[in-house]
Amino acid sequence: MENDFYNLFKRIIRECNYTNTYKMAWAKALVEIAIEKEYTDKIVEISLKEIAEKIIKYYWNQTIFFDLIQGSNLTETPLILQYTKQLIGEYYESIENKKPERFERVENYIKESLTNEYNYCINKTVKTLKADVSWRFIFIDGQTHTEIYQYNKGENYIKISSTNLKVLKENSEDLFDLINYRWGLILETFNISPRINKKVKIIDEQKVKRNSLSKFREYLDIENPERKCFICGKKIDEKDLSIDHVIPWSYLYSDDLWNLVYVHKSCNSCKSNVIPAKKEIEKLKERNQKLIKMLESSNKRGKMVDELKYANEKDYVDKFWIACKS
Ligand SMILES: [Zn+2]
Repeated sequence: MENDFYNLFKRIIRECNYTNTYKMAWAKALVEIAIEKEYTDKIVEISLKEIAEKIIKYYWNQTIFFDLIQGSNLTETPLILQYTKQLIGEYYESIENKKPERFERVENYIKESLTNEYNYCINKTVKTLKADVSWRFIFIDGQTHTEIYQYNKGENYIKISSTNLKVLKENSEDLFDLINYRWGLILETFNISPRINKKVKIIDEQKVKRNSLSKFREYLDIENPERKCFICGKKIDEKDLSIDHVIPWSYLYSDDLWNLVYVHKSCNSCKSNVIPAKKEIEKLKERNQKLIKMLESSNKRGKMVDELKYANEKDYVDKFWIACKS
């Protein structure tokens, strides 16, 4: 029996269609709940609210860092993603800057300071799960498979056997791998940004963090010794100095000299994740050419210099800009 359930659960993940990522989020939430939940009964109730909380967390993290598109209809964002994006907007407004944070790190703040907004997001998500996901997940080959869990349409919870929860828990590592792999594949069909699978995986490992960019200073200083801001053109004091990605980090998920410039912290926080205008792109290309010349004449060598030259030859600035605009 256990194997039947496990195989069926994996089959749902493997055969999931590529319309959106709801089923992946749902499956992942069930596995995570199976790990955390304490129970004594043979049949365990899991509320859609519990599931919604997990799903919001996944979408929050994928959106705030990488702005991944979660549905094949590009003109219509999947509802749950819309609610998540709204919550992110309200969060940014509330903290008055746009520094991305993992949901887990700001969860308490959101629940306390944005209680109504958070509850709205959860309630709307529950509604969508009810209408679209809860019953559909176990509807395979034209029939409802109650051996996975039981769900009566309209209800606020599913009922799952403790045996099944145990199977999910015991196989959680493999299931997370499988779900992330499928999730990445689905995302690849409608996201053109690079390193999709790495983005999905890294978010799961809680390792997503921005590396220090200070190692780029010695290169940037060669071309811009006065440290003038790429955005406003004024000189930057040490305390207000930051290094910024012209093409957003959320898109590239990589730190490269060809894409990095000095900016004021204040100028930077206004434009986080915004796709640059043509003018900025031209400016960056000019900067790169000038930087290459100056690096050459100062006899600076190394991987960073080689990469910059390569990026310049291959026209990375234009290529990635065009790709991230579309
Ligand atoms: Zn500035």
